[in-house]
Amino acid sequence: MAWSVPAARRLRIRVHGAVQGVGFRPQVYRLATALGLSGSVRNARDGVQIEAQGTDDALEALLAGLRRLPPPVRVAGLECDCVPPAGDDGFVIAPSETGPGAALPLPDLAPCADCLAELRDPADRRHAYPFLSCTACGPRYSIIDALPYDRERTAMAAFTPCAACAAEYADPLSRRFQHQANACPACGPRLTFCNAAGTERAQDGRALAAAAAVLRAD
Ligand SMILES: [Zn+2]
Ligand SMILES: [Zn+2]
Repeated sequence: MAWSVPAARRLRIRVHGAVQGVGFRPQVYRLATALGLSGSVRNARDGVQIEAQGTDDALEALLAGLRRLPPPVRVAGLECDCVPPAGDDGFVIAPSETGPGAALPLPDLAPCADCLAELRDPADRRHAYPFLSCTACGPRYSIIDALPYDRERTAMAAFTPCAACAAEYADPLSRRFQHQANACPACGPRLTFCNAAGTERAQDGRALAAAAAVLRAD
């Protein structure tokens, strides 16, 4: 029986729309890896650039999958070019392209159902933590200093992730995989209540209660 291995093709795909800060790169990584494609995905100045190499069927499935990603991702346009095949080592999330660009400014997103469940779960390590978020929700516009959206260009640059947060960031199966604003009570920002002189009086839940008490007393 005659058979042949399908030739690998490589596509450079430029994706425009709401594709930064919405968990797009992790979703592309999971899609491409599941399809056996090699290559890379990275934030570009005007959106996201993907290089993907594999069979025609796998590449078609990737393009179809990109168009089906759920909100907050919004793909406004895809441009594809064939480029020469390369010798990749699997599929990777590559460093962002930097410089002035025209990516869409990202909105802050209300907490998702998964984050709200953690917020209310006394057994969760983010129980009652007001700054929890994930790739589907949380602040973007209000913490971003510049695009592309990476932690070092946000207000979160001042907070070094703890081991547990770093593990989530590195885990393709976590919804916090590559989550730039990942934080928890051990490593992230905290609520602090200060008096008029700037002296710290309370932290965390007590800070919220203290602020409420002052407002009620006025
Ligand atoms: Zn969330
Ligand atoms: Zn942490």
